[in-house]
Amino acid sequence: MASGMIEIDSELCKDCKLCISVCPHHLIESSDRMNQKGYCSAVFIEKPLKKEGRKCTGCGLCAIICPEIAIEVYRA
Ligand code: SF4
Ligand code: SF4
Repeated sequence: MASGMIEIDSELCKDCKLCISVCPHHLIESSDRMNQKGYCSAVFIEKPLKKEGRKCTGCGLCAIICPEIAIEVYRA
């Protein structure tokens, strides 16, 4: 299976949660930390979930749907 990873620019995020709703492996959630604009930005939470086999495939859905262009996708 393809593998990938993402980086979310927490300062661009406006916590719309669209990326959370589209990730097929549920690898993104809202953080409890506010950014400079007062939004609890989305975070990539793959690390603790890898042992359950939930890995980013680099599909890009999260980046495509993000209205703030806050997500960068890297494919291995
Ligand atoms: S690239 Fe795909 S699998 Fe990876 S975090 Fe984004 S939506 Fe999820
Ligand atoms: S889609 Fe973009 S702006 Fe919306 S929560 Fe995800 S990273 Fe933040």
